[in-house]
Amino acid sequence: MVYEIKKYGEECLGKECVPVEKITEETLKILEDMVETMHEANGVGLAAPQVGINERYFVIDIGDGVVRKIINPEILEYSEEFTETDEGCLSVPGIYKKVKRAYEIKVKYLNENGEEKEETMTGFLAKAFQHEFDHLSGTLFIERISPVAKRLISQKLKQLKKETMKEHKNLNK
Ligand SMILES: [Zn+2]
Repeated sequence: MVYEIKKYGEECLGKECVPVEKITEETLKILEDMVETMHEANGVGLAAPQVGINERYFVIDIGDGVVRKIINPEILEYSEEFTETDEGCLSVPGIYKKVKRAYEIKVKYLNENGEEKEETMTGFLAKAFQHEFDHLSGTLFIERISPVAKRLISQKLKQLKKETMKEHKNLNK
């Protein structure tokens, strides 16, 4: 099943998410559907709040042959070295801006089998992980861009929010 992706302006995108206490059949089905949704939208990552679920998990596929399902993630260490490259988000369509991210991170999470994993990630994978991780505390990448860039997109964001609200109203009729 392909989810409808929540867009900028929806309340669920700004909320703190709660940890998963038990990985159930339902959790696994949601993760599977999130992967399908991400692929259909040509995204490299999708977090649960982007499909209206405020729980701590996300999926990542950076095209390296591994589809990652990440549950209850923690970032244990950030490198001082950083990258600053364009980022976009399926929930903020049409906007791409530079975001500073740690080049390397050490992370801990549960995979879909409930196994605890510890991993060091670098480059694009680290960047994707940090972007999705932010979603779980209700933070969008546009909150991490420079003040100048923020000013430049403020009109576009207003417009986007208006459209989201209009769609929202229509859906709830
Ligand atoms: Zn995003």
